[in-house]
Amino acid sequence: MQIDCSRRSFLKGSAVAAAAYAIGPPVIARTIRASVIVVGAGAFGGWSALQLLQKRAKVTLLDAWGPGNSRASSGGETRTIRATYGPALLLYTQMVARALRLWQEHERRWNVKLFFRSGALRMAGPDDSYERAALPVLQQAGIRYEKLSTEECAKRWPQINFEGVPWSVYEPDSGFLAARRACEAVLNAFVKNGGQYRQTQATPGPIVANRMQGINISTSEVLTADYYVFALGPWLGKIFPFLTSIITPTRQEVFFFGTPAADVRFTEAQLPTWIDGGKNPFFGVPGNHWRGFKIADDTRGPVIDPTTVERQISEEKLASARAYLRTRFPALADAPLVESRVCQYENSTDHNFILDRHPDAGNVWIVGGGSGHGFKHGPVMGEMVADAVLDLKQPPKEMGLGRLL
Ligand SMILES: Cc1cc2nc3c(=O)[nH]c(=O)nc-3n(C[C@H](O)[C@H](O)[C@H](O)COP(=O)(O)OP(=O)(O)OC[C@H]3O[C@@H](n4cnc5c(N)ncnc54)[C@H](O)[C@@H]3O)c2cc1C
Repeated sequence: MQIDCSRRSFLKGSAVAAAAYAIGPPVIARTIRASVIVVGAGAFGGWSALQLLQKRAKVTLLDAWGPGNSRASSGGETRTIRATYGPALLLYTQMVARALRLWQEHERRWNVKLFFRSGALRMAGPDDSYERAALPVLQQAGIRYEKLSTEECAKRWPQINFEGVPWSVYEPDSGFLAARRACEAVLNAFVKNGGQYRQTQATPGPIVANRMQGINISTSEVLTADYYVFALGPWLGKIFPFLTSIITPTRQEVFFFGTPAADVRFTEAQLPTWIDGGKNPFFGVPGNHWRGFKIADDTRGPVIDPTTVERQISEEKLASARAYLRTRFPALADAPLVESRVCQYENSTDHNFILDRHPDAGNVWIVGGGSGHGFKHGPVMGEMVADAVLDLKQPPKEMGLGRLL
């Protein structure tokens, strides 16, 4: 969700070289009818398939369990969209600026609510270097923000105890996205616009002379295309063993607490999405589609297998979430747990995204490494993937595999 300390140190070094990929208006469609198979219909693969289709490619999208399924990293009700990225890549903040526009444009076009403009609040901790460094980046990317004192925050959101928070960054135009619903909406638009979708498990075919020869699917068929895009989130290392040490799926637990009846203080009408930049790196989404007050700890959990893991929460993490609630949201100290999820982050080694060709196959693209912050970027990653595959624009060099191999 947010960038932790180890990410900060990597990202600091990248601050200046950030804007290699200019975020601009969509490239005008050309008369290209390249065929592309996209494997994985999550936030990255679904949007890639749709954007490829919009750029006139002939696209087939495959997914083993369906878009936003319960195992996928894009599953669940909601995801935060915020642009405060510390001193990190200007690229991400620019991508969020464009993503905010694209999400709203598409929800209007599809007549389905995907974006909730609750605002996004980032509470600084005793070390506020992350938040301080973010401000000029936000300004440069044209993201509106307010720098709020503890007193201002407490006045606006009395349901939060701001003890230990010296100040906060508030983005009034950010908020949260409907996650699973968005994956489904993307798929619907893809199919409606002539894309072909199949629910099937894919394995890569042989690579000969720098080209993958096709994709094997569950029905024993071999599917072929000009290009193959693998957007397999936490499964990338399973499909391509050379990525095992580069993409690590970690167990993340998410809790939904029941608010008092008729109490709207914890809905998006009265509370922004929030991230605590202090020593307890929790974040949360108010309302959360009536599923309860969502909170999760951004600390990376143990490595898991996304296919076989039993998705039951641990007593230890539940106790830690309750302890946090008691301090930061005292009115919810005794709130009952009403639902829970176990999800995974698909962390790249440096927590930056990956968009690059397979090192041994020029017709294969690898897309992933969302690292706990990928969902919001789906529409923009989709554009970048489509541009890269169709050779319309080079992908950002910061997303190259070379940095990790
Ligand atoms: C708890 C939690 C909170 C998060 N919070 C935020 C947030 O607030 N904001 C944000 O922007 N991001 C957030 N993220 C991160 C974000 O959700 C992910 O980075 C993003 O959804 C990754 O999308 P993806 O398409 O790469 O992967 P996935 O959604 O996992 O998609 C991969 C797809 O591949 C399919 N697949 C796997 N193997 C095969 C196969 N062999 N053949 C065919 N299909 C296959 C799967 O079924 C799956 O649908 C969060 C993640 C978690 C877990």
